Amino acid sequence: MPMLHGCAFPGCSTFTLSTYCVEHELLVRALKESERAHVAAHDDVAAADAALTADTALIAATPESATT
Ligand SMILES: [Zn+2]
Repeated sequence: MPMLHGCAFPGCSTFTLSTYCVEHELLVRALKESERAHVAAHDDVAAADAALTADTALIAATPESATT
């Protein structure tokens, strides 16, 4: 059985099975996404374009999940 433990986010005491609780999992993920986009914009605009194209291709490949 997996053990519940406190969310790794500072100041959060929500118990979770993963590193962060659902709320902070989404928050951390969003932060990483924006960080990556920020770095890509400075580093190489083409890389950001490629990432966007890949995301669009992924959405196009799964129309069921995109419509909900
Ligand atoms: Zn949390």
